[in-house]
Amino acid sequence: MAQSKPTAVAPSPTQPQAGNRGTAPAPQIRQTQLFIGGQWRPARSGRTFDTINPATEETIAQVAEGDAADVETAVAAAREAFETGPWARMDARQRGRLMLRLADLIEAEIDELAALEALDNGKPFADARHIDIPLALDALRYYAGWADKIHGQTIPINGNYFCYTRREPVGVAGQIIPWNFPILMVAWKWGPALAAGCTIVMKPAEQTPLTCLRLARLAQKAGIPDGVINVVPGFGPTAGAAIVKHPGIDKVAFTGSGETAQIIMRQAADQLKRLTFELGGKSPNIVFADADLAAAARGAHVGIHLNQGQCCCAGSRLFVEDSIHAEFVEQVVELSRKRRVGDPFDAATEQGPQVDRAQFDKIMGYIAAGKAEGATCATGGRRVGDRGFFIEPTVFTNVRDEMAIAREEIFGPVLSVLKFSDTEELVRRANATNFGLAAAIWTRDIARAHSVARRLRAGTVWVNCYDVFDAAAPFGGFKQSGFGRELGERGLDPYLETKTVTVSLEERHIP
Ligand code: ADP
Repeated sequence: MAQSKPTAVAPSPTQPQAGNRGTAPAPQIRQTQLFIGGQWRPARSGRTFDTINPATEETIAQVAEGDAADVETAVAAAREAFETGPWARMDARQRGRLMLRLADLIEAEIDELAALEALDNGKPFADARHIDIPLALDALRYYAGWADKIHGQTIPINGNYFCYTRREPVGVAGQIIPWNFPILMVAWKWGPALAAGCTIVMKPAEQTPLTCLRLARLAQKAGIPDGVINVVPGFGPTAGAAIVKHPGIDKVAFTGSGETAQIIMRQAADQLKRLTFELGGKSPNIVFADADLAAAARGAHVGIHLNQGQCCCAGSRLFVEDSIHAEFVEQVVELSRKRRVGDPFDAATEQGPQVDRAQFDKIMGYIAAGKAEGATCATGGRRVGDRGFFIEPTVFTNVRDEMAIAREEIFGPVLSVLKFSDTEELVRRANATNFGLAAAIWTRDIARAHSVARRLRAGTVWVNCYDVFDAAAPFGGFKQSGFGRELGERGLDPYLETKTVTVSLEERHIP
């Protein structure tokens, strides 16, 4: 998603033009069972759970509910594939080719996958079609290119030795993903793991298991050997915890909430399991008075409302310089007011429902707290309709730093606007959070842009843009927003061990 103009927010994928949003085919539900060792099977327990359509609150399908017994089978399949299967012996370049084939198969059914994603998650079909899946393809193809370019070094150590390093796959990766970008999270997790030569046990989120299962089918069709990718849908405390605790899992990659990450860290401690976490945020989006205000307003709008506000990097704290505050806030409020909320399959829709009732209730709770603490609800704040989990795009002004809506991650379409007058004070307030995932700066002053970017404690800083992602650019958090990085060359590191081999060059003559 490279940008052509520095003042644009993000290119067309983030803001599909009306008329360019495409028509969704009827979503097909083809896979609802566990995918283990290349086979589709019911849960050992025979149990299933409902996955619901958040736009209608109706059940879409019953999905096999995996638990510890199924994780056991999945880990056995993944270990076998890692240690003795064709994957273990396959040339790296061939691994890359299979990944490219998987990307091609996804692209071939992009409309159908986008429809399934919209149905299960509630996001607009057009967003899934033009943002999520293109980014997923980008990640898979980028990492396919890495598969045969992972190599060690030769190192000039002291003495008469030949020393070199090898980069070896870490083993079986347990991957636990959230519901906000189901397909994209699969690609971000499978891409580096497969490139590195790992095998996988994945648990999709219980809210959105359907597209992950479909992608497993496509992986098999692409020729990725059985057992390399295993998918066990189910709940966190059962299937998820079993992945974390299983001694046959070498590494856990988790994206989700900080609370769950703490549980995972405790549970992984006994085995000193390798962990990478991509967690929440309360990202500052900073607008200086000299910025291109129309572009910044658009950036503030997309930065908070994209994906119904369900983005870990959402720009949920909008810091506006006081001299432009009134004029700027008016623009932002106006954009929120005009945002079209409705049926994810309607081409005009910009915002769908929140993913489930729990998220809906949590967000409405924060809106009530914002009002109770004395912030001004400048627009939004109410449910839309009486069926489905729709919430009006909401903007709070007169927010103070200590209010819950300015401190805690809401994970919904709720923006908190804060005023600042001085750069020193701004940097201190922007950094006064336990999170550190992302930040953005809007200014025409190039020195200020770089100097503030350097001082913000965040894993990603966007300047005069927001939500610009690229598979080559690392993404991840400072502080309690996580550790480890996804994407880019750094994204491979968690899936690799470095082995040092030291060979004596003393010639020993055996008589
Ligand atoms: P959210 O609150 O946004 O749903 P969670 O962190 O609860 O975020 O969920 C993200 C993923 O973590 C989901 O796949 C969920 O099932 C899983 N999960 C939840 N609890 C646990 C747990 N105790 N152990 C492992 N995985 C878990």
